[in-house]
Amino acid sequence: MHCASCAVNIEKELADVPGVLSAKVNAVTETALIESEQPLAIETLQEATSRAGDYVIASSGGSAADHSGQMSDRAHQGGDGEHDHAPAAGSSAYRKTLVAVVGALFVLAVLIVFQFWVDVPYEGWIALLLATPVQFVVGATFYKGMWGPLKRGRANMDTLIALGSTTAYAYSFVSLLIHSEPELFLDASVAIVSLVALGRLLESRAKGRASAALQELSRLQPQVAHLVLEGGDMRDVSVSELKVGDRVRVKASEQVPVDGVVVEGSSSVDESLITGESFPVQKEIGASVIGGTLNQRGTFVLRAEGLGLDSVLSQMTRMVEEAQMSKAPIQKLADTISAVFVPALLLIAIGTFFVWWLGGFADVSGAVLVLVSVLVVACPCALGLATPTAVITGVGNAARRGILVRDAETLQHARNTSVMVFDKTGTITQGSPTVTQVLGDATQTLSVAAALESASEHPLASAVLNYAQEQGVTTSTVEAFEAVTGQGVQGVVNGEAAAIGSLRFMKERSVAVPEEIEKQAQVLEAAAQTVVFVSRGEALLGALAITDPVKDTSAEAVQVLKRMGIRSSLLTGDAEATARAVASEVGIETYTADMRPEEKLTAISRLQQEGEVVAMVGDGVNDAPALAQANVGIAMGAGTDIAREVAGMTLIQGDLLKATEAIQISRVTMRLIKQNLGWAFVYNLVLIPVAAFGLLHPAYAAGAMALSSISVVLNSLRVRR
Ligand code: ADP
Ligand code: MG
Repeated sequence: MHCASCAVNIEKELADVPGVLSAKVNAVTETALIESEQPLAIETLQEATSRAGDYVIASSGGSAADHSGQMSDRAHQGGDGEHDHAPAAGSSAYRKTLVAVVGALFVLAVLIVFQFWVDVPYEGWIALLLATPVQFVVGATFYKGMWGPLKRGRANMDTLIALGSTTAYAYSFVSLLIHSEPELFLDASVAIVSLVALGRLLESRAKGRASAALQELSRLQPQVAHLVLEGGDMRDVSVSELKVGDRVRVKASEQVPVDGVVVEGSSSVDESLITGESFPVQKEIGASVIGGTLNQRGTFVLRAEGLGLDSVLSQMTRMVEEAQMSKAPIQKLADTISAVFVPALLLIAIGTFFVWWLGGFADVSGAVLVLVSVLVVACPCALGLATPTAVITGVGNAARRGILVRDAETLQHARNTSVMVFDKTGTITQGSPTVTQVLGDATQTLSVAAALESASEHPLASAVLNYAQEQGVTTSTVEAFEAVTGQGVQGVVNGEAAAIGSLRFMKERSVAVPEEIEKQAQVLEAAAQTVVFVSRGEALLGALAITDPVKDTSAEAVQVLKRMGIRSSLLTGDAEATARAVASEVGIETYTADMRPEEKLTAISRLQQEGEVVAMVGDGVNDAPALAQANVGIAMGAGTDIAREVAGMTLIQGDLLKATEAIQISRVTMRLIKQNLGWAFVYNLVLIPVAAFGLLHPAYAAGAMALSSISVVLNSLRVRR
């Protein structure tokens, strides 16, 4: 697949298949993402793609749901070397094309020698003999490419190339037959076919490199695991045979085979594959490890958790793949243009021919030359490649640094961010809070608190539970548990209604908070601690002071944002004093405290009404509405599922510096897209008139056309690091 108009044609055909809800085709990754009501037979889809042209679906034979199958297959095909990515058609096809192109270039050299330096008898016929295989063997790809759409009255870029070269070839042939001194444009036809084919060959190599991030990811999936059997013996099994709950030993310097939790031993693990961070992370019992990461010197046993399509690596691959497939809004423009462009240009080219010929500006042969040049130079290939190649590099670069981007649209918008709004707990702070102090009746407070929190997933809950356990407090169970997101939780403990949460939560439940405790709480809050209150019935039992240290890099991230011209703001469900303390610790000027989830959302839409482009960074259930509302929602990797689901980006490591990096990547990507589009437009806008005025020989037109596509792809690759 070589151009946006091919992709658009295939998309149309796929979308027409009954049952297909939507189809997206990416010309760079040469993949289609199809959403359908029910599973579809490959054959049905194959029929549709062949209607669009000579396109074969390279199915891996995997299930319909496993659309990452094809990608990983291709990665394995890529084989040995890091940079050895054959085109999708497979390496033998690649080699064949290479031989054909080299042959065609050789013919081109011979024809040029004939033209300028030597005169041999029957020169014209020899030239025809040489040019014919080039035209019909090497050029077959263009004929095949144009045929499908042609049957349905559509034109694509192949149509332009095929028509251009065929015109030059046919004119020369007829001229040879009927004139004693024939006019030959065989060098032009050979130049078009060979140079454009060469351009595509180089382009396909470069495209392979652009989508390499994905291939690197899927290649990293390990194959074998050491399964620990009942008696403690070990047996090597294929990773695909593992079940959730299996115990697997990971030896020193080995790749972790599956996602899981460490249940025995400890070691440090290099997670740079997932997080982009090169420092190994220490893993003790209870820590989660991710399949594909690299164990260092220690050894440990893990209990398998996410398997197959549920594994982190597989989810990441899928997300990156989908993001690379997605279209940035800016691309719609290029797509529309190239879809209208091609038929329009066909007409322009033919019109030009008649103006030259009938207008008496040239004889037939001169007019043919102009026609051929216009046809060849008109191909908007570079235009079609401009956006997808840049998006693929951008998304790939982000993934390599531990930033998962959901779609190209997010990548496009992130660049314009003017305000970044942060959640506090788990975003600016580490989200691993610990209880420092209990106010009021310690034992009762803790016992009721622990009972309530045993059913909560909030980060504060684990702090309370850990502390209660340390203090040896016996807990009872909770009934009728209910979480009031952003405020606290309530339920029935030992037959009595009980609650734990913010001061606001207490007041709304008309619990009287003694002045003494409220004052103490304020002092603790001013020191950046979170104070949660515990009530039974309408009486306050006590309060817990909880500290959650700020992440090392949070303050630096705020500084970086300031330098980038982006304001920072803090929105938290925590108390005013705590919010103020944390905000001043990291250097954030504006903050709003005591916010419920829906208030976070309105705060964001208010900013948007003021004309700001808002990026929101959060981790919790309480942040989900705001993340969805923001122009760019950024979730923490360790955060809740729902936050990650609604966000446009996920920071695997939860390091806020990564959020600033994401915006930088977006800026670079958009700059690239604009450069690419600009270059492609200028190329077509300038060279079409030049060709129409008869100032561009078809051979140069072919060279320029090949160069334009290659330069766009190379420009996108330039930023890959
Ligand atoms: P943030 O916006 O900082 O992430 P949340 O919105 O999650 O904070 O919580 C806001 C406040 O609600 C907390 O500071 C706490 O007072 C209270 N709260 C929420 N959930 C709980 C819980 N499970 N246990 C105790 N307090 C809670
Ligand atoms: Mg939070």
